Amino acid sequence: MKFHYRCSQCGAEYDITPDRMVCPACAEAQKPDEPLRGVLETVFEGTPGKDLLFDILPVEKEYFPPIPVGGTPLWQPARIRRSEGFPELYIKDDTANPTGSFKDRASYLVAAFARKHEIRDIIVASTGNAASSMAGVGAAAHLNVKIFIPKTAPRAKMVQALQYGAEVNLVDGTYDVAFDKSLEYSRASGGLSRNTAYNPLTIEGKKTAAIEIVLQLGSAPDAVFVPVGDGVILAGIYKGFRDLRRLGIIDKLPTVYAVQAEGSSAIARAFDKGDFGAPVPSSTMADSISVDVPRNGYYALRELKENG
Ligand SMILES: *Cc1c(COP(=O)(O)O)cnc(C)c1O
Repeated sequence: MKFHYRCSQCGAEYDITPDRMVCPACAEAQKPDEPLRGVLETVFEGTPGKDLLFDILPVEKEYFPPIPVGGTPLWQPARIRRSEGFPELYIKDDTANPTGSFKDRASYLVAAFARKHEIRDIIVASTGNAASSMAGVGAAAHLNVKIFIPKTAPRAKMVQALQYGAEVNLVDGTYDVAFDKSLEYSRASGGLSRNTAYNPLTIEGKKTAAIEIVLQLGSAPDAVFVPVGDGVILAGIYKGFRDLRRLGIIDKLPTVYAVQAEGSSAIARAFDKGDFGAPVPSSTMADSISVDVPRNGYYALRELKENG
């Protein structure tokens, strides 16, 4: 199998190397307080073998750390099916991942990539779960993980990252400030950034959930409801289904519903209005999807518009 990056905006193609994050041409137009420009997607060529899930990931299986990420249960919740009137509702339970969230799928691929390229330092900004995740998966991969997290993030999540041995830097400001600070740091220090959407492998790693869903059901579901903060799970889910369609394993994409909290709804607003406009401070108890500037906003919005 061969892999390369393609810009989600201009279509320019790039080799997959540790210093390639966003498309440099499109990133020139980057303004502060708007989603990332020039987010890259991963493209494969070739025919996968029997190990479909790993064969269509851009890092060889031998580099993945020894920690059981993915393969999470697809529950058939009898009571919710009855009470909500959806007899064929399933729940893809990614809390069963080693650190308790979907983020492990992205951290797992980033950790494998770091090992392949003999990189020891990973830097990540987070509202909480990406930090815990990179800390845990990074520990399994024997990596040094440095975290930038708003000082208002839930204590439990900071504790989790500290337990795994990461270095935690509390940022006086929002997640958006932490994101920028961590980028500054990784550019200056030379470590590998695992910032969501900025590192294209975060999107690619998250596609494995879509592939598992199809393998578990034996076919594509009609619809998938995806919680959306930065819009990377959303893009990853679309990517997984698109890969399977390209391989002829499914014939059409499920309808994907992007779900946001009312108090943190930048992508929903942009979907209705057509553009992102000035950021609106987010406020929701759903802290993992509390995002003012959705980093993968442009790409997520394009997927939603193109696929209806
Ligand atoms: C990060 C996260 C999300 C949102 O994912 P994005 O890729 O930022 O859209 C949703 N739920 C949980 C539990 C998360 O940790």
